[in-house]
Amino acid sequence: MGGDVIVISLSMDSDAPLRLASRLRSLEPSRQTPILLIGDREDQPLFIKALELGVNDYITRPIDDQELLARIRTQVRRKRYQDRLHENFLQHLSMALTDSLTGLHNRHYLSSHLDSVMERMRDSGKPVSLLMIDIDHFKQVNDTYGHSVGDEALKEIGQRILRNVRGFDLAARFGGEEFVVVMPDTPLEVALGVADRLCEQMSTNPILVSASKDKILLTLSIGVSVSDGTSSTAETLLEEADKALYQAKREGRSRVVPTPPKSAKTAVEAAPG
Ligand code: GH3
Ligand code: MG
Ligand code: MG
Repeated sequence: MGGDVIVISLSMDSDAPLRLASRLRSLEPSRQTPILLIGDREDQPLFIKALELGVNDYITRPIDDQELLARIRTQVRRKRYQDRLHENFLQHLSMALTDSLTGLHNRHYLSSHLDSVMERMRDSGKPVSLLMIDIDHFKQVNDTYGHSVGDEALKEIGQRILRNVRGFDLAARFGGEEFVVVMPDTPLEVALGVADRLCEQMSTNPILVSASKDKILLTLSIGVSVSDGTSSTAETLLEEADKALYQAKREGRSRVVPTPPKSAKTAVEAAPG
C-alpha cells in the first residue's frame, strides 16, 4: 500500500505516463505518495505539465545514479515528515474528541454535538432520548481493589455501553464514572428499553479484572430524559436526565428512572401566545 515513492518513465511515446500520474494523484492510497518523472531533455513541456498535475520532481536522461538516489531520498524524507505531521494532527484531533481511558467520546465532544443533534431532530419532528448513567458505589471498587482495577472496570463498562447502543447513538464518558448516551430519533419507551437492558446486564454479569481473581459485580443507576417538541435544549435534556438519575439513586440504585411526564408544561406550550 502506497510505497515510499513512485518513479514514472516518460519513454513511452504517448500521454499515458501523465495520465497515470494524474490518476495516482486522484486515488486515495497514492494521493500523498511522491512521484518522480524520468524523461529526455526534449520532454521539457511535459515536465511542466506534470508538475502542475502534482508530480513532485523530474530527472532527465542520461541518468546519474547519484542524482536519482539523492532526489528519491529527498522525496522520501519529505513524505515521512508530512506523514508524521499528519499523524500528530490526527492524534491531537482524537485526543480532543475521545476519552483516552475508555475510547468513548468525551464530554467536550458530547456538548458540542448534542446541540446540533437536537436541532436536526427538532427540524424533522423526531424525539431525542438521553441516558445519564452512573455506576453505583464505584468508590468501593477503588477502595477495595485499587485505582487501576477501577480503571479497568470503567473501560469494560464503556464497552458494554457501546455494545448496547446503535451506531448512530452517541456514547460519551461524561465524568469520572458517569456516562451519557444520546439517542436520536428515539422515543422514551425505546430508550427505557435500552436502559433496562443495560441495567439488567450489568447486575447479572460480573466484570473480570486482570489484577484480581475476584469477579466484580457492579450495578448502574440510569436517568432517562426525552426531548419535548421545541422547548428542549441540550442543557434541559441533560439536567432532566441528571435529576432522574438522582431519583434512581435515592430509590435504592440499580434501576432506571425516566423524567416525569410534563403534562402541565405541555398545556402551557399549547396555549396561544
Ligand atoms: P454512588 O452509588 O452514589 O454513585 O456512589 P459512588 O461511590 O459511585 O459515587 P461517588 O461520587 O462517591 O464516587 C465516585 C468515585 O468514582 C470516586 C472516584 O474515586 C471514582 N472515579 C472517578 N473517576 C475515576 C477514574 O477515572 N478511575 C477510577 N479508578 N476511579 C474513578
Ligand atoms: Mg458519580
Ligand atoms: Mg457512582
